[in-house]
Amino acid sequence: MSEREAVLRDLRERVLYFADLTSIGLPRRPGVLDETSAAAMSSAGEATPSPPPQTLEEVREWLGDCQRCRLAQGRKTIVFGQGSPRAELMFIGEGPGAEEDEQGLAFVGRAGQLLTDIIERGLRMKRADVFIANVIKCRPPQNRNPEADEILACQPFLEAQIRAIRPKVIVGLGKFGAQWLLRTAEPITRLRGRLGEYEGITVMPTYHPAYLLRNPAAKRDLWEDMKVVLGILGRTV
Ligand code: URA
Repeated sequence: MSEREAVLRDLRERVLYFADLTSIGLPRRPGVLDETSAAAMSSAGEATPSPPPQTLEEVREWLGDCQRCRLAQGRKTIVFGQGSPRAELMFIGEGPGAEEDEQGLAFVGRAGQLLTDIIERGLRMKRADVFIANVIKCRPPQNRNPEADEILACQPFLEAQIRAIRPKVIVGLGKFGAQWLLRTAEPITRLRGRLGEYEGITVMPTYHPAYLLRNPAAKRDLWEDMKVVLGILGRTV
């Protein structure tokens, strides 16, 4: 593919991603926003507090008992994300499942166990030394995929968390984590393993642990990606 074609494809993917994220609030009937979409759209444009939150504690305080989208109604707990505020490495997944909703912690179910193995046995790092978060902070009903207005409503808080931590590398886990970080609608199969960038921070898109549980053979690709991450962090195993 020529450089020009690559640039055009990248541009096309970005336009598609934003079209997807911004069109969800659009009326099913012209001129009418449904109430939840309208609430999420307005919170997406919600002014950042002044001065902007600098620390994770300040971001958490700003989030409050969030009611900015419909997911607030079905959740038990807001899953803010957890780990070191000085993490060099951050993981961003999709959203809480049942176990995470119950405990208020990200990645504590079966997929979380595999993520722990990746961090502790694969990367030889402590889970407490990285930071783990999700694109959305509340569990969707029946674990369905997050909808675009829910992602938009949560977006300012994840952005603020990343600014507070400023890790060296962020790993985007699966379609939602990777596409959110890279602002693209490209499928994860094409994104995986190709380094990108989020606000000057290196991004490694890779498979979601839940996908790896269903497709163990893909762990080989994940390990290739993790070796690149280790190299950027200046670590060896
Ligand atoms: N899957 C995710 O994407 N995030 C979690 O926190 C748990 C499972």
